[in-house]
Amino acid sequence: MSELSELYQELILEHGKNPRNMRSMEAANHNAEGFNPLCGDHITVHAHVVGDTIEDLSFEGSACAICTASASMMTQQLKSAATSDADSLFEQFRNMLTGPESNADAYEQSLGKLASLAGVRRYPMRVKCATLPWHTLKAALEDSADIATTE
Ligand code: ZN
Repeated sequence: MSELSELYQELILEHGKNPRNMRSMEAANHNAEGFNPLCGDHITVHAHVVGDTIEDLSFEGSACAICTASASMMTQQLKSAATSDADSLFEQFRNMLTGPESNADAYEQSLGKLASLAGVRRYPMRVKCATLPWHTLKAALEDSADIATTE
């Protein structure tokens, strides 16, 4: 294992154990529930959107380390961001995990800590764990009443 992937591994474990923004939100005006039946990840994403800005973002529920770390880093990265940033970041995150590009370095600048999840692409089952928070956020921003899934 290279030094870089060890560092990444640590970051994922740290966020999995001590997730950021894992809390309920009274002021939320967008909420959605997400479920990944393959792993059992079941989360709710809360967002407080004012105009085009995600003023506050949080999640709660029960999920594996990969899903929790992804949700934790996602909320950190997108808090105070524009709602359009959520779309473009999700697109890049998904490309990193399922696209032809296998080099995490290519995504480090735009995705920041989220690039640490690049190694997940080698485990297709876990890709769904990593993308569930994003599908759920998208559903929340679109006010979808359906439970978001990874399919
Ligand atoms: Zn999972």
